[in-house]
Amino acid sequence: MMHNITLIYGDGIGKEVIASVKKIIDYSGADINWDIVEAGYSAQERYGTPLPDHVTDSIKKNRIALKGPVTTPIGKGFRSVNVALRKQLNLFANVRPIKSYDGVDSIHKNVDFVIVRENTEDLYSGVEHMVGEDAAESIKIITRKASERICRFAFELARKENRKKVTLVHKANIMKLSDGLFLNSGIKCSKEYEDIQFEEVIVDAMSMKLVQSPQDYSVIVAPNLYGDILSDLSAGLIGGLGLAPGANIGENIAVFEPVHGSAPDIAGKNIANPTSAILSGIMLLKYIGEVNRAETIEKALKEIFKDRAKCTEDLGGSLGTREFTQEIINQMKG
Ligand code: ATP
Ligand code: MG
Repeated sequence: MMHNITLIYGDGIGKEVIASVKKIIDYSGADINWDIVEAGYSAQERYGTPLPDHVTDSIKKNRIALKGPVTTPIGKGFRSVNVALRKQLNLFANVRPIKSYDGVDSIHKNVDFVIVRENTEDLYSGVEHMVGEDAAESIKIITRKASERICRFAFELARKENRKKVTLVHKANIMKLSDGLFLNSGIKCSKEYEDIQFEEVIVDAMSMKLVQSPQDYSVIVAPNLYGDILSDLSAGLIGGLGLAPGANIGENIAVFEPVHGSAPDIAGKNIANPTSAILSGIMLLKYIGEVNRAETIEKALKEIFKDRAKCTEDLGGSLGTREFTQEIINQMKG
């Protein structure tokens, strides 16, 4: 079946890492018609805005996008292109798989969990004001609707990926109303998923447990802020941002993207590690039902990681982005 997918290269190393994943997905044989559009700096230059309407229209039409890191030109009427996209497409769930790979230096081995972060509310609603000159207030918004939606999403993901436990993270002992509502939404949801174990952990304790024994977790669901912090902490457990893929998902719509930024310091030098982008591409293939092709690519990647010499510089190897990409393709040939 042919899939129409929006492709955004993005800025900086985005051009290189997205070229890499596109090449690998095309090689896998997946039947994809890429609808290539520009966002970020290049769009700013060509269209006068970093997020032209035809970009969001393309994603709305295709329902799926693969995108590189996009920077927001300063003072162009957007707080952030990424936030604008999330809002316009109502991408309420941020999904970050955290997985360790043999051969990659990391603090922990045998880690395999997914963080599901609520993406639309909490302290990120942007409702802030000064109270007089010497105090400021930020409003934390938690709604039953968004909380139940994200918790249900986490349980559904657990079922789909055959994961046995959902851990809800909160601070309801202090924020009894807001985090209490989030916690109660999770408890309510858990009753509908008796096949999946449910536990709740307070965010400070969770931070310690994740550092000590990340192997104990399978699916973690959290409000926006805790999810944000725990995501980066977790990426640190398995070897850093360069290895962490991500997806922003809404109702029947999904945007897959590497977690790292545009890294202008190394852009255009053929040294960026495209792994985060490739893993995001693997998530995309699974999402559209191309599970076998996704697994072929992941298997090749795992083999490459076992041999330092075949890795990029950040992983202790000496290959460039393009050469690393070619190694993966050679490995896929078997
Ligand atoms: P942005 O402003 O878009 O966030 P950034 O420079 O902050 O860009 P980050 O992803 O935050 O980008 O990366 C921080 C640093 O980590 C980069 O400057 C780069 O040196 C390194 N880095 C990030 N991603 C990669 C990658 N894929 N491969 C190799 N090094 C990377
Ligand atoms: Mg950054």
